[in-house]
Amino acid sequence: MATERDERAAKRLATESAEPLPQAVGPSSVTQAGKLSRVVVWFRRDLRLEDNPALMAALRAGREVIPLFIWAPEEEGVFTPGLSSRWWLTQSLESLSRKLEALGSRLVLFKTPTTKEGIVPFVKDNDIQAVYFNHLYDPISLVRDKGIRTLLQGLNVHVESFGADLMYEPWEIYDEKGQVFNTFDKFWEHIVNKMPYEPFMPLPCPVAMPKVPDEVKGNRASLDEVAIMTEEEAATSEHLKEKWMPGSDSAHMVWNKFLCEKLAFFKQEKAMVHSDCTSRLSPHMHYGEISVSSLYFVLKKMKLSLSTALDSEQQIASVDKYIKQLGYREFSRYILFHNPFTHERPLLEHLCAVPWQYDQDLFKCWQQGCTGFPLIDAGMQELWSTGWCHNRLRILVGHFFVKYLNLPWQWGLKYFWDTLIDADLECDALGWQYLSGCMIDAPPFSYIMDYEEECKRFDPDGKYVKKWLPLLARVPSKFIHTPWKAPAKILRASGVDMGITYPHRVVNMDQVRKSVKHCCECLEAQKCGPQRGPFRHPTRSDPSRPSSMRTGTADEGMDGPYLPGKTKPEKADSVGLGGVQSHISETDGCHNESTGVVES
Ligand SMILES: Cc1cc2nc3c(=O)[nH]c(=O)nc-3n(C[C@H](O)[C@H](O)[C@H](O)COP(=O)(O)OP(=O)(O)OC[C@H]3O[C@@H](n4cnc5c(N)ncnc54)[C@H](O)[C@@H]3O)c2cc1C
Repeated sequence: MATERDERAAKRLATESAEPLPQAVGPSSVTQAGKLSRVVVWFRRDLRLEDNPALMAALRAGREVIPLFIWAPEEEGVFTPGLSSRWWLTQSLESLSRKLEALGSRLVLFKTPTTKEGIVPFVKDNDIQAVYFNHLYDPISLVRDKGIRTLLQGLNVHVESFGADLMYEPWEIYDEKGQVFNTFDKFWEHIVNKMPYEPFMPLPCPVAMPKVPDEVKGNRASLDEVAIMTEEEAATSEHLKEKWMPGSDSAHMVWNKFLCEKLAFFKQEKAMVHSDCTSRLSPHMHYGEISVSSLYFVLKKMKLSLSTALDSEQQIASVDKYIKQLGYREFSRYILFHNPFTHERPLLEHLCAVPWQYDQDLFKCWQQGCTGFPLIDAGMQELWSTGWCHNRLRILVGHFFVKYLNLPWQWGLKYFWDTLIDADLECDALGWQYLSGCMIDAPPFSYIMDYEEECKRFDPDGKYVKKWLPLLARVPSKFIHTPWKAPAKILRASGVDMGITYPHRVVNMDQVRKSVKHCCECLEAQKCGPQRGPFRHPTRSDPSRPSSMRTGTADEGMDGPYLPGKTKPEKADSVGLGGVQSHISETDGCHNESTGVVES
């Protein structure tokens, strides 16, 4: 089955796409010549034994199968996984290692500056005849994999790769004119209604594996020696164990629990930020501990049986909604595969001209959850302490970052990358492109969210804020999202001293509107934005400006984004957000109803 999948992909590649994705090598030589003596299955972000086509192909082809993992973080440049993600990887590899040992095999480990420096000598020294791996779609992996494939083939090593991360490969999906889809709705509509074939059925888990000969060694004997985290980093990540359990067994447990307890309410509850109604499978899925196909077929079967049951509309709608979430993940890979710059440049080119302000103080306020907007701060606190937050919060804090603080979305993307436990370049890039208005189906750049309205919709009683900002726990629900509106007596009774125990807002609505208006004018005039790279270390836009983190006077805390001809900001406590009554933006008067990609 895996072979057929790869052949189909290869044919498509040859006929429809000039993309740099590696061509699969036909397996005929392998089968005709009988079993190869020694082959490698190269694990990357597919840390599972079941539904793993590369592993299955290796087991079919080789008498000896060597499971290999290479840690080459330098190769990924600025996109080396962040601390929480590396914590996950370490635990997940431990779990995979144990599972391989239970089947009679073992994981061979390398730590090298580049993958090439690990795999090429290993293949030569150990007389490896074939290497099998599963596809990745981010630009860093694509370039690396293509290089490795060429090198290995030059050594007469058979190289074969498979799709295992998606329902459909990105080069299988085009519109009627053979064009790439650039809006989610059309992409998804095509998959649901027009794909002539289903995703592949999941493959079984091997029941045994050949022993890895003692003489076959990596350059590290254990995961401790690979040191994916330093000792200090490991010590500061201990708390993650309380919330998460990496590994494919755990992924299946989480999935089954979600199916039994939460899926039925998914459609209704998923948007509420305090509800624990989403699956939290994202870090498991990032490292490939559970396959999308296996989820899809369970959901499909469930939908079929629900269709004959009475009063099952709500449950069916929830199943469809969840399948659609998986669709966003597919779309993220599709977009980055076809636009390999998506993590760095806006998909809508003209947005390169946004005049961002590169303000380190505001960036820090946002990171540390000290913006003075409780829902934003609560989201950032949860993100920092658990490595995760709800999709809606990611949208809100991201939107706040881009529109309220006028900071470049690439900084936000990188911070998420460094902090999220489910950090995933494709999903991260899609999310930031969308909320920055860089996609065709996203709200336009002129759109400014109404903070108070969003709070009412997604955290109506302030439960979420009270949980993640316990300092505000005694503020009455009426003022929990807008403590600046609370009368002094109430604040005193709640134990809140604005500017001392909780910061004043770093920006007011007038400043936000002016800033977005100014950006839109620049865009309209097609003026060029600052010619600075997206990952430049942040610097203060105005070193003489007092830190907005200080808890001194209200004015200091309100010193918001730099604007040409900026006047002294109003005093924090006197500035309400009531001026923004709806999502109608001042700059284009556009009422945005868009559901868009990550709104889901
Ligand atoms: C700015 C921003 C950055 C993001 N960065 C990441 C990231 O680095 N890694 C990541 O996995 N997700 C990211 N997302 C998408 C989404 O927030 C998470 O996938 C989701 O919150 C994970 O929680 P869950 O597993 O409980 O989701 P569920 O609602 O249970 O969804 C199930 C699965 O569907 C996929 N999915 C759901 N929503 C999306 C979406 N909007 N885009 C892509 N896939 C989706 C995920 O794989 C998720 O695990 C980002 C979203 C935004 C707005």
